[in-house]
Amino acid sequence: MGLRKFVAGNWKMHGVASDLDQARAIAEAARGYPNVDVALCVPAILVERATRAVAGLAIGGQDVHSADKGAHTGCVSAQMLVDAGARLTIVGHSERRAAQRESSAEVRAKAEQALRCGLDVILCVGESLEEREAGRALAFVTDQLAASLPEPGQGPPALAIAYEPIWAIGTGRVASCDDIEEMHTALRERVGTGTRILYGGSVNASNAAAIFATPEVDGALVGGASLKGADFVPIIAAASEQS
Ligand code: PEP
Repeated sequence: MGLRKFVAGNWKMHGVASDLDQARAIAEAARGYPNVDVALCVPAILVERATRAVAGLAIGGQDVHSADKGAHTGCVSAQMLVDAGARLTIVGHSERRAAQRESSAEVRAKAEQALRCGLDVILCVGESLEEREAGRALAFVTDQLAASLPEPGQGPPALAIAYEPIWAIGTGRVASCDDIEEMHTALRERVGTGTRILYGGSVNASNAAAIFATPEVDGALVGGASLKGADFVPIIAAASEQS
């Protein structure tokens, strides 16, 4: 039997208090799909209000620092996220790997810190268009995973991997189901059968069913289409049908 499907939204730098109406609508609708795990990763400043607004829905952050505390202006620690009510966090999103120049070693340290503090972790990996076109996607992503993967034994919080080809994020261009299966199969060999592997990159209501039906896909990390209940709930419904 496959793993329970997991659909996580990444609001990125979108959302103020009035947008929690959408989170409430998502939480309410998600109750109708009890066979799917649903989470929303919101801006850190919204985590506490979101957890109060949507009891029952897992709320997460989008990044954590690897240190407990200290002189790290503008950063958020794992303990701060836990204190605000978060149950999970994303680490290693390609936007941070690029804009904040996060190395895989830093991503691994962040993942280990988050797990130690009791947060579930979604660890992102993915290749650029250049690497895909050069035929290096599999090697690049499996090397990136090996360099970013936390040491085993950090549980019980759960680790999920999100395979997000950079060229598919926010572009409307989705990896083919064959390419997703090939990559997820390679990642599965590295992480084993107990770790969920999500696909991310322009997932929407129209392509979700085919993606969730692809072997080795245990869910999705969804950016743009997670901002509105009308876009996100059909993705949760598609996951439910494949569970
Ligand atoms: C993401 O940012 O993780 C993502 C997958 O974005 P989008 O769904 O908008 O491509």
